[in-house]
Amino acid sequence: MAENPFFAPSDLPYELPPFADIREEHYLPAFERGMAEQLAEVEAIASSTETPTFENTIAALERSGRILDRTATVFFSVAASNTTDGIMEIEKEISPQLTRHSDAIRLNRALWARIKQVATDDPEEAWLLEKYRDDFIRAGADLSEPDQNRLRALNEELSKLSTQFAQALLKASTESALVVSDPKELDGFDEAKIESLRQDDGTYVLPLLNFTCQPGLAQLTDRDVRRRLYELSVGRAPGNFAIAARMAALRAERAALLGFPTHAAYTVADQTAKTVEAVEEMLGQLVGPAVRNAKREAEALAEQAGFDIEPWDWSYYSEKVRQARYDFDGAAMRPYFELNRVYRDGVFFAATKLYGVTFTERPDLGGYHPDVTVFEVANEDGSPLGLFVLDPYARPTKRGGAWMNNLVDQSFLFGQRPVVMNNLNITKPASGPTLLTYDEVNTAFHEFGHALHGLFSQVRFPRVSGTSVPRDFVEYPSQVNEMWVTWPEVLANYAKHHETGEPMPAELVEKLTAAETFNQGFKTVEYLAATLLDWAWHKLAPGETVADPEAFEQAALEAAGIAFPLVRPRYRTNYFAHIFSGGYSAGYYSYIWSEVLDAESVEWFKENGGLTRANGDHFRRELLSRGGSLDPLTAFRNFRGREASIQPLLKRRGLD
Ligand SMILES: [Zn+2]
Repeated sequence: MAENPFFAPSDLPYELPPFADIREEHYLPAFERGMAEQLAEVEAIASSTETPTFENTIAALERSGRILDRTATVFFSVAASNTTDGIMEIEKEISPQLTRHSDAIRLNRALWARIKQVATDDPEEAWLLEKYRDDFIRAGADLSEPDQNRLRALNEELSKLSTQFAQALLKASTESALVVSDPKELDGFDEAKIESLRQDDGTYVLPLLNFTCQPGLAQLTDRDVRRRLYELSVGRAPGNFAIAARMAALRAERAALLGFPTHAAYTVADQTAKTVEAVEEMLGQLVGPAVRNAKREAEALAEQAGFDIEPWDWSYYSEKVRQARYDFDGAAMRPYFELNRVYRDGVFFAATKLYGVTFTERPDLGGYHPDVTVFEVANEDGSPLGLFVLDPYARPTKRGGAWMNNLVDQSFLFGQRPVVMNNLNITKPASGPTLLTYDEVNTAFHEFGHALHGLFSQVRFPRVSGTSVPRDFVEYPSQVNEMWVTWPEVLANYAKHHETGEPMPAELVEKLTAAETFNQGFKTVEYLAATLLDWAWHKLAPGETVADPEAFEQAALEAAGIAFPLVRPRYRTNYFAHIFSGGYSAGYYSYIWSEVLDAESVEWFKENGGLTRANGDHFRRELLSRGGSLDPLTAFRNFRGREASIQPLLKRRGLD
């Protein structure tokens, strides 16, 4: 095992993980050695006879666990983007062990006693020290021995259930896929799309994407096929209902152990929202107007259809109304959104205009799959900044959605520059150029906003590097980056016909922006319903159990005033991966919470002349480069010059 690539730092540029050398059998031994190494390091810190200082305690903890960190970073990145049966097995085995490992550190009484004695005058150190104290208390450091034992058992069971939930969901995307034998049933799709769905046995398989309203619902002309697709979507992975209910009950019990009335209260305590009441006050301002907007939209759709529509008709007729009202044809846009051009002349172009950074493809550096591309990013003066790794395509081995993750965290402590990754789920065409939908273009800019947050990080400690900020803050920079999608100078630069190079005709551009507020009622209700469902699951009282999760779901939506049969939650309980297998439990509200800051910041950019180097530098210096190294709302105030108001958000979503 001397050649296990995780045992030593990578010698590739920027310590990019050596994917070509990594084999499945390297993971378990590397996890094992990594955990053992870190436990020994922690034991040395905890049993030291020196007076506890920031340097010998907190900084020493930051330095610990290098092998484990390298291994886990690569493993979970590959498990999400390019998994195999072997990796899924390792994940099942390792997840509870990692939970035990993290408990062994945070429930170490001698270590905790030393952390409590550390003092420092340096603001960045003081902020990190506070984070450590908070992390330890929230992990149960102050509990009695029997309560800590119960906590360990709860954490382990939760981690197992969460892996089960995710794996069932990944299987369901193909096992519950829509299968048709006659291509006529796919009428509405173009020929290339139909061809890409064809299987060796002559059938056509449309896999499920991980949200309620499948994109195919906007195009498929056969109403019964739409119904089947919709029902497959909302009914997938039915075994996950029981797992979810069990997880919610365990989380409520854990919250009670830690002194909180509910899991929601526990979760928001270290977020920028801080209290359950603050979140509910904000959601309360949105529900009524959003449902009213959606009902108005439904009436227009029924008029267009000539009958009372069902949920599987919404996308289809809203596309028709959009075409009628704005003469907006989503399909007519796609030839202007070619993947490479969207990145090079759009996403990267906007970043160069704002921040002066440049991008150079590095074909000599590779990922875990041939479709992965690596770019080197440099500052305006040519100094190196980091690597950006892009994995754009969907594949059966990739989980749904789009996300950013770090492969290497920036920190001055280790002298490391960042390596960040974006994953998307764009269907790869059987041949020819990859043409994106408008939504996919938006997603590309969004995820790149997270990437910039990681790339621009200039902090001392890995714990607070880049996007290591509260969850209800992390979506804010990425949402701001979406403003450049339709910014005239940017759009004109990337939206060119993939064959002729002609710019997108002015009237298409006008329609695109005019149609932007269209269907906002649907989008807001779909999102809020998922948020309130997440909230209901995580406001269960300790000891309260849910015998019928589907009935619970319905009752929760009704109680929140958001039950509208035509617009179901963006995620139902059974495929709500954010909250049952991701880190977003009682945190799905974060997107709209962050959007308050986003809408304010977009106003600021507009007030100050938009796409300029001066604006980019100010945003980069005050906000993006600071990562989680200070109070996030202080960073926001430093950038904006005042507190955030909700008005710009209400206006943007047509809720004012
Ligand atoms: Zn995001």
